[in-house]
Amino acid sequence: MTKTLRPSGGGGRSFRLGAVLIDLHAHSSQSDGTDTPAALVSAASAAGLDVVALTDHDTTAGWQEAIAAVRPGLRLVPGAELSCGVTDEAGRTISVHLLAYLFDPSSPALGREQARLRSERRARLRMMAERMAADGFPVDPDDVLGRLPEDAPGGRPHLAMALVRAGVVNTVDEAFARFLAAGNDYYLPRTDTPVEAAIEMIAEAGGVTVLAHPFARSRGPVVDVRVIAGLAARGLTGIEVDHPDHDTVTRDDLRRIATDLSLVGTGSSDYHGANKAIRLGQETTAPEMFDRLVEKASGARVVVG
Ligand code: AMP
Ligand code: FE
Ligand code: FE
Ligand code: ZN
Repeated sequence: MTKTLRPSGGGGRSFRLGAVLIDLHAHSSQSDGTDTPAALVSAASAAGLDVVALTDHDTTAGWQEAIAAVRPGLRLVPGAELSCGVTDEAGRTISVHLLAYLFDPSSPALGREQARLRSERRARLRMMAERMAADGFPVDPDDVLGRLPEDAPGGRPHLAMALVRAGVVNTVDEAFARFLAAGNDYYLPRTDTPVEAAIEMIAEAGGVTVLAHPFARSRGPVVDVRVIAGLAARGLTGIEVDHPDHDTVTRDDLRRIATDLSLVGTGSSDYHGANKAIRLGQETTAPEMFDRLVEKASGARVVVG
């Protein structure tokens, strides 16, 4: 894609040369990113993106602020990333993240489940911080929780940042590697939503779903192609193919799986602000894939600046 019509509020200057940049996975300070929703939207414009999606973990609390911050030249896709679990053929429960776009945020079933997840996440974050404090680490659970916006879902990155501030580690990544990754001493699991139920809830709310970083093996056990096929049969719309946690071979595998199962294949950065060394627009989605997602969604509109 080379020539694009940019949505422009100001008349005249509408064509520009270059690729259309669509990044459908980014976190704000409403979950575990460091940019406020408004700052994230401004950063997307500054990065030259045409489309950005706001996908905070288990909350839509950033939507309003993000929508108000959209300026000409940018389109915003309101979304979320839902913490889910799926049981594989061997009976193991695997943690998966489900990106959800353009759903009605006032859907009662969805709202209840997201509130449950946020509350569980906060309790879990407190318990992880308490366990570290009890072992003599200089972290204050009240301070870790007190820094979150009201009713925001806490996550391991918030504890990781506290460890950086306390000088225990130099980076968030180091905190995960030494203390917080699954299997490490201070890791605690969550009771996530069964992914089939989440797909159904989002579909009922008029939205579409994309399985986030399905083969991000560095994070722990991942699903296999049979599980993805099962989810496709249950209404999953797409899978994230190009993601910083997927190597070249993995991306090729996922692209083939998407084609075989008629799933939309996306690419996105999973931007978390200063919490990760990843740029907005580092990975992008092809315009025709984006169009397929938007065509299927009816629960909320793409916000045009
Ligand atoms: P939680 O939601 O509390 O289970 O924490 C998971 C979050 O931590 C995800 O949003 C990831 O982006 C982030 N994360 C997972 N692994 C790492 C890592 N090794 N380094 C930095 N961030 C990570
Ligand atoms: Fe995250
Ligand atoms: Fe994720
Ligand atoms: Zn994410």
